[in-house]
Amino acid sequence: MAVILDGKALAAEIKANLSGRAQTLREKGVTPCLAVVLVGNDSASVIYVRNKKKDCEESGIKSLAFELPEETSQSGLISLINDLNARADVHGILVQMPLPGHINEKEILLAVDPRKDVDAFHPENVGLITQGQPRFAPCTPAGVMALLDKYAIDPKGKECVVVGRSDIVGKPMALLLLHRHATVTIAHSRTPDLAAVCRRADILVSAVGRLGLITGDMVKPGAVVVDVAMNRKPDGKLAGDVVFAEAEPKASYITPVPGGVGPMTRAILMQNTITAAEWAQTQMKG
Ligand code: NAP
Repeated sequence: MAVILDGKALAAEIKANLSGRAQTLREKGVTPCLAVVLVGNDSASVIYVRNKKKDCEESGIKSLAFELPEETSQSGLISLINDLNARADVHGILVQMPLPGHINEKEILLAVDPRKDVDAFHPENVGLITQGQPRFAPCTPAGVMALLDKYAIDPKGKECVVVGRSDIVGKPMALLLLHRHATVTIAHSRTPDLAAVCRRADILVSAVGRLGLITGDMVKPGAVVVDVAMNRKPDGKLAGDVVFAEAEPKASYITPVPGGVGPMTRAILMQNTITAAEWAQTQMKG
Protein backbone atom coordinates (compact mmCIF):
# COMPACT_ATOMS: atom_id res chain seq x y z
CA MET A 1 0.00 0.00 0.00
CA ALA A 2 1.37 3.36 -1.02
CA VAL A 3 1.52 6.41 1.22
CA ILE A 4 -0.92 9.04 -0.04
CA LEU A 5 0.72 12.38 -0.77
CA ASP A 6 -1.87 14.62 0.83
CA GLY A 7 -1.82 17.88 -1.09
CA LYS A 8 -4.99 19.13 0.53
CA ALA A 9 -3.49 18.96 4.03
CA LEU A 10 -0.18 20.51 3.01
CA ALA A 11 -1.92 23.30 1.09
CA ALA A 12 -3.97 24.13 4.20
CA GLU A 13 -0.74 24.28 6.22
CA ILE A 14 0.87 26.60 3.66
CA LYS A 15 -2.17 28.91 3.56
CA ALA A 16 -2.27 29.11 7.39
CA ASN A 17 1.39 30.14 7.34
CA LEU A 18 0.68 32.69 4.60
CA SER A 19 -2.07 34.34 6.64
CA GLY A 20 0.58 35.04 9.29
CA ARG A 21 2.75 36.74 6.67
CA ALA A 22 -0.30 38.63 5.38
CA GLN A 23 -1.06 39.87 8.90
CA THR A 24 2.52 41.14 9.29
CA LEU A 25 2.14 43.02 5.99
CA ARG A 26 -1.15 44.57 7.10
CA GLU A 27 0.51 45.81 10.28
CA LYS A 28 3.05 47.55 8.05
CA GLY A 29 0.28 49.20 6.00
CA VAL A 30 0.20 46.81 3.02
CA THR A 31 -2.88 44.69 2.21
CA PRO A 32 -1.69 41.88 -0.09
CA CYS A 33 -3.93 41.85 -3.14
CA LEU A 34 -4.40 39.54 -6.13
CA ALA A 35 -6.30 40.70 -9.21
CA VAL A 36 -7.90 37.85 -11.14
CA VAL A 37 -9.04 38.55 -14.70
CA LEU A 38 -11.56 36.26 -16.37
CA VAL A 39 -12.67 36.76 -19.96
CA GLY A 40 -15.87 34.97 -20.97
CA ASN A 41 -17.64 32.28 -18.96
CA ASP A 42 -15.84 29.00 -19.66
CA SER A 43 -17.33 26.77 -16.96
CA ALA A 44 -14.01 25.29 -15.72
CA SER A 45 -12.44 28.77 -15.58
CA VAL A 46 -15.38 30.12 -13.59
CA ILE A 47 -14.79 27.36 -10.99
CA TYR A 48 -11.02 28.03 -10.91
CA VAL A 49 -11.62 31.73 -10.33
CA ARG A 50 -14.11 30.99 -7.56
CA ASN A 51 -11.55 28.67 -5.90
CA LYS A 52 -8.85 31.31 -6.12
CA LYS A 53 -11.10 33.78 -4.33
CA LYS A 54 -11.60 31.23 -1.54
CA ASP A 55 -7.84 30.57 -1.36
CA CYS A 56 -7.23 34.31 -1.04
CA GLU A 57 -9.68 34.50 1.87
CA GLU A 58 -7.91 31.59 3.60
CA SER A 59 -4.48 33.17 3.07
CA GLY A 60 -5.31 36.71 4.22
CA ILE A 61 -5.13 38.10 0.68
CA LYS A 62 -7.59 40.59 -0.76
CA SER A 63 -8.91 39.47 -4.14
CA LEU A 64 -10.22 41.63 -6.94
CA ALA A 65 -12.22 39.91 -9.68
CA PHE A 66 -12.49 41.39 -13.16
CA GLU A 67 -15.06 39.44 -15.13
CA LEU A 68 -15.08 40.62 -18.72
CA PRO A 69 -17.43 39.62 -21.52
CA GLU A 70 -16.38 37.02 -24.10
CA GLU A 71 -16.17 39.67 -26.83
CA THR A 72 -13.58 41.76 -24.94
CA SER A 73 -10.96 42.96 -27.42
CA GLN A 74 -7.21 42.38 -27.21
CA SER A 75 -6.61 46.10 -26.68
CA GLY A 76 -9.36 46.30 -24.03
CA LEU A 77 -7.75 43.47 -22.08
CA ILE A 78 -4.28 44.97 -22.41
CA SER A 79 -5.58 48.31 -21.22
CA LEU A 80 -6.99 46.66 -18.06
CA ILE A 81 -3.66 44.88 -17.49
CA ASN A 82 -1.81 48.18 -17.87
CA ASP A 83 -4.08 49.74 -15.23
CA LEU A 84 -3.44 46.83 -12.87
CA ASN A 85 0.32 47.01 -13.57
CA ALA A 86 0.25 50.66 -12.49
CA ARG A 87 -1.82 50.17 -9.33
CA ALA A 88 0.32 50.18 -6.18
CA ASP A 89 -2.41 48.37 -4.23
CA VAL A 90 -2.35 45.34 -6.62
CA HIS A 91 0.57 42.95 -6.05
CA GLY A 92 -0.34 39.98 -8.21
CA ILE A 93 -2.14 39.75 -11.56
CA LEU A 94 -3.56 36.52 -12.88
CA VAL A 95 -5.22 36.29 -16.26
CA GLN A 96 -7.23 33.06 -16.30
CA MET A 97 -6.36 30.85 -19.29
CA PRO A 98 -7.56 29.75 -21.76
CA LEU A 99 -8.63 33.05 -23.31
CA PRO A 100 -11.21 33.26 -26.11
CA GLY A 101 -9.83 32.35 -29.55
CA HIS A 102 -9.64 35.93 -30.86
CA ILE A 103 -7.19 36.93 -28.12
CA ASN A 104 -3.45 36.40 -28.53
CA GLU A 105 -2.46 34.73 -25.25
CA LYS A 106 1.29 35.23 -25.76
CA GLU A 107 0.81 38.99 -26.09
CA ILE A 108 -1.33 39.04 -22.94
CA LEU A 109 1.31 37.15 -20.95
CA LEU A 110 3.89 39.69 -22.12
CA ALA A 111 1.70 42.60 -21.00
CA VAL A 112 1.70 41.58 -17.32
CA ASP A 113 4.42 43.32 -15.30
CA PRO A 114 6.88 40.49 -14.51
CA ARG A 115 7.01 41.70 -10.89
CA LYS A 116 3.27 41.00 -10.60
CA ASP A 117 3.27 37.82 -12.72
CA VAL A 118 2.40 35.43 -9.88
CA ASP A 119 1.66 32.61 -12.35
CA ALA A 120 5.31 32.90 -13.52
CA PHE A 121 4.34 32.67 -17.19
CA HIS A 122 6.14 35.83 -18.41
CA PRO A 123 9.28 34.95 -20.43
CA GLU A 124 11.44 36.95 -17.99
CA ASN A 125 10.21 34.79 -15.11
CA VAL A 126 10.50 31.62 -17.17
CA GLY A 127 14.12 32.57 -17.90
CA LEU A 128 14.84 33.07 -14.21
CA ILE A 129 13.31 29.67 -13.42
CA THR A 130 15.45 28.08 -16.13
CA GLN A 131 18.55 29.61 -14.57
CA GLY A 132 17.58 28.26 -11.16
CA GLN A 133 16.97 31.70 -9.60
CA PRO A 134 13.19 32.07 -9.73
CA ARG A 135 11.49 35.33 -8.89
CA PHE A 136 8.20 33.42 -8.65
CA ALA A 137 7.82 29.68 -8.36
CA PRO A 138 6.05 27.96 -11.27
CA CYS A 139 2.85 27.07 -9.38
CA THR A 140 2.14 23.48 -10.32
CA PRO A 141 5.73 22.16 -10.49
CA ALA A 142 6.67 24.01 -7.28
CA GLY A 143 3.58 22.53 -5.66
CA VAL A 144 4.80 19.06 -6.61
CA MET A 145 8.28 19.79 -5.22
CA ALA A 146 6.79 21.06 -1.93
CA LEU A 147 4.78 17.86 -1.66
CA LEU A 148 7.87 15.70 -2.28
CA ASP A 149 9.80 17.70 0.31
CA LYS A 150 7.01 17.33 2.87
CA TYR A 151 7.34 13.56 2.62
CA ALA A 152 11.16 13.72 2.58
CA ILE A 153 11.36 12.37 -0.98
CA ASP A 154 14.66 13.63 -2.35
CA PRO A 155 14.93 13.61 -6.17
CA LYS A 156 18.75 13.75 -6.02
CA GLY A 157 20.25 10.97 -8.10
CA LYS A 158 16.83 9.52 -8.94
CA GLU A 159 15.49 8.62 -12.38
CA CYS A 160 12.56 10.95 -12.95
CA VAL A 161 10.18 10.76 -15.87
CA VAL A 162 7.87 13.67 -16.62
CA VAL A 163 5.12 12.82 -19.10
CA GLY A 164 4.03 16.03 -20.85
CA ARG A 165 6.11 18.97 -22.10
CA SER A 166 3.83 21.99 -21.79
CA ASP A 167 5.25 25.39 -20.89
CA ILE A 168 3.24 25.57 -17.68
CA VAL A 169 3.71 22.06 -16.28
CA GLY A 170 5.97 19.56 -18.06
CA LYS A 171 8.95 21.75 -18.92
CA PRO A 172 9.24 23.64 -15.61
CA MET A 173 8.59 20.37 -13.72
CA ALA A 174 11.54 18.76 -15.47
CA LEU A 175 13.70 21.81 -14.71
CA LEU A 176 12.88 21.84 -10.99
CA LEU A 177 13.71 18.13 -10.74
CA LEU A 178 16.93 18.72 -12.68
CA HIS A 179 17.89 21.57 -10.35
CA ARG A 180 17.47 19.10 -7.50
CA HIS A 181 19.96 16.75 -9.19
CA ALA A 182 17.57 14.18 -10.64
CA THR A 183 18.23 12.46 -13.96
CA VAL A 184 15.23 13.64 -15.93
CA THR A 185 13.49 12.27 -19.01
CA ILE A 186 10.64 14.20 -20.61
CA ALA A 187 8.15 12.06 -22.51
CA HIS A 188 5.45 13.37 -24.82
CA SER A 189 3.03 12.37 -27.55
CA ARG A 190 5.82 11.32 -29.94
CA THR A 191 7.67 9.17 -27.40
CA PRO A 192 7.78 5.59 -28.67
CA ASP A 193 7.07 2.97 -26.01
CA LEU A 194 5.91 5.29 -23.26
CA ALA A 195 5.39 2.30 -20.96
CA ALA A 196 9.07 1.31 -21.10
CA VAL A 197 10.16 4.90 -20.40
CA CYS A 198 7.77 5.21 -17.45
CA ARG A 199 8.94 1.90 -15.98
CA ARG A 200 12.42 3.44 -15.53
CA ALA A 201 11.07 6.09 -13.20
CA ASP A 202 11.82 6.25 -9.49
CA ILE A 203 9.63 9.37 -9.60
CA LEU A 204 6.95 9.42 -12.29
CA VAL A 205 5.07 12.65 -12.93
CA SER A 206 2.21 12.56 -15.38
CA ALA A 207 0.88 15.83 -16.80
CA VAL A 208 -0.99 14.92 -19.97
CA GLY A 209 -4.73 15.15 -19.48
CA ARG A 210 -5.69 11.69 -20.69
CA LEU A 211 -7.81 9.50 -18.48
CA GLY A 212 -6.27 6.07 -17.91
CA LEU A 213 -2.99 6.79 -19.75
CA ILE A 214 -0.74 5.49 -16.98
CA THR A 215 -1.63 1.90 -16.15
CA GLY A 216 -0.20 -0.28 -13.39
CA ASP A 217 2.26 -2.05 -15.70
CA MET A 218 3.94 1.32 -16.40
CA VAL A 219 4.86 1.83 -12.74
CA LYS A 220 8.15 0.52 -11.39
CA PRO A 221 7.67 -1.23 -8.03
CA GLY A 222 8.36 1.27 -5.25
CA ALA A 223 8.06 4.34 -7.51
CA VAL A 224 6.70 7.69 -6.39
CA VAL A 225 3.73 8.51 -8.63
CA VAL A 226 2.59 12.10 -9.05
CA ASP A 227 -0.55 12.70 -11.08
CA VAL A 228 -0.89 16.32 -12.17
CA ALA A 229 -3.75 15.83 -14.59
CA MET A 230 -7.34 16.81 -14.02
CA ASN A 231 -9.70 14.92 -16.28
CA ARG A 232 -13.47 14.55 -16.08
CA LYS A 233 -14.76 11.01 -15.97
CA PRO A 234 -18.01 10.22 -17.79
CA ASP A 235 -19.81 10.53 -14.41
CA GLY A 236 -18.45 14.09 -14.09
CA LYS A 237 -15.99 13.26 -11.29
CA LEU A 238 -12.34 14.35 -11.42
CA ALA A 239 -9.56 11.86 -12.16
CA GLY A 240 -5.95 12.05 -13.27
CA ASP A 241 -3.94 10.25 -15.96
CA VAL A 242 -3.02 7.41 -13.63
CA VAL A 243 -5.22 4.37 -13.09
CA PHE A 244 -5.05 4.76 -9.33
CA ALA A 245 -6.34 1.29 -8.43
CA GLU A 246 -3.57 -0.33 -10.51
CA ALA A 247 -0.72 2.04 -9.63
CA GLU A 248 -1.31 2.41 -5.91
CA PRO A 249 -0.42 -1.19 -4.93
CA LYS A 250 2.92 -0.89 -6.78
CA ALA A 251 3.90 2.63 -5.75
CA SER A 252 5.62 3.71 -2.53
CA TYR A 253 3.89 7.11 -2.59
CA ILE A 254 1.08 8.38 -4.79
CA THR A 255 -1.01 11.54 -5.17
CA PRO A 256 -4.78 11.30 -5.20
CA VAL A 257 -6.89 13.20 -7.74
CA PRO A 258 -8.52 15.31 -6.43
CA GLY A 259 -6.64 16.32 -3.29
CA GLY A 260 -3.07 15.95 -4.55
CA VAL A 261 -1.40 18.44 -6.87
CA GLY A 262 -4.43 20.70 -7.48
CA PRO A 263 -4.59 22.27 -4.00
CA MET A 264 -0.78 22.61 -4.00
CA THR A 265 -0.84 24.62 -7.25
CA ARG A 266 -3.32 27.03 -5.71
CA ALA A 267 -1.34 27.35 -2.47
CA ILE A 268 1.85 28.25 -4.38
CA LEU A 269 -0.08 30.92 -6.27
CA MET A 270 -1.03 32.42 -2.92
CA GLN A 271 2.59 32.15 -1.76
CA ASN A 272 3.76 34.04 -4.86
CA THR A 273 1.21 36.79 -4.18
CA ILE A 274 2.43 37.25 -0.60
CA THR A 275 6.02 37.31 -1.88
CA ALA A 276 5.07 40.04 -4.40
CA ALA A 277 3.38 42.07 -1.65
CA GLU A 278 6.44 41.70 0.60
CA TRP A 279 8.62 43.16 -2.15
CA ALA A 280 6.20 46.03 -2.61
CA GLN A 281 6.39 46.71 1.12
CA THR A 282 10.20 46.68 1.03
CA GLN A 283 10.12 49.22 -1.78
CA MET A 284 7.78 51.45 0.24
CA LYS A 285 10.39 51.48 3.00
CA GLY A 286 13.10 52.47 0.52
P1 NAP B 1 -1.10 20.42 -22.45
O1 NAP B 1 -0.55 21.77 -22.69
O2 NAP B 1 -2.25 19.91 -23.26
O3 NAP B 1 0.10 19.37 -22.58
C1 NAP B 1 -0.12 18.00 -22.58
C2 NAP B 1 1.16 17.27 -22.84
O4 NAP B 1 0.88 15.89 -22.86
C3 NAP B 1 1.80 17.62 -24.18
O5 NAP B 1 3.17 17.84 -24.00
C4 NAP B 1 1.54 16.38 -25.03
O6 NAP B 1 2.58 16.08 -25.92
C5 NAP B 1 1.51 15.29 -23.98
N1 NAP B 1 0.74 14.13 -24.47
C6 NAP B 1 -0.45 14.12 -25.09
N2 NAP B 1 -0.83 12.86 -25.37
C7 NAP B 1 0.16 12.07 -24.94
C8 NAP B 1 0.36 10.67 -24.95
N3 NAP B 1 -0.53 9.82 -25.47
N4 NAP B 1 1.50 10.20 -24.44
C9 NAP B 1 2.43 11.02 -23.89
N5 NAP B 1 2.29 12.36 -23.84
C10 NAP B 1 1.17 12.87 -24.36
O7 NAP B 1 -1.56 20.24 -20.93
P2 NAP B 1 -1.05 20.96 -19.58
O8 NAP B 1 -1.55 22.35 -19.54
O9 NAP B 1 0.39 20.68 -19.38
O10 NAP B 1 -1.88 20.11 -18.53
C11 NAP B 1 -1.73 18.72 -18.44
C12 NAP B 1 -2.76 18.16 -17.47
O11 NAP B 1 -2.52 18.73 -16.17
C13 NAP B 1 -4.21 18.52 -17.80
O12 NAP B 1 -5.03 17.46 -17.35
C14 NAP B 1 -4.48 19.74 -16.94
O13 NAP B 1 -5.85 19.89 -16.63
C15 NAP B 1 -3.69 19.39 -15.72
N6 NAP B 1 -3.24 20.53 -14.93
C16 NAP B 1 -3.39 20.38 -13.59
C17 NAP B 1 -2.93 21.36 -12.77
C18 NAP B 1 -3.07 21.15 -11.31
O14 NAP B 1 -2.97 22.09 -10.57
N7 NAP B 1 -3.28 19.92 -10.86
C19 NAP B 1 -2.35 22.51 -13.28
C20 NAP B 1 -2.18 22.63 -14.66
C21 NAP B 1 -2.62 21.61 -15.48
P3 NAP B 1 2.93 16.99 -27.22
O15 NAP B 1 3.67 18.17 -26.66
O16 NAP B 1 3.77 16.11 -28.02
O17 NAP B 1 1.63 17.38 -27.84
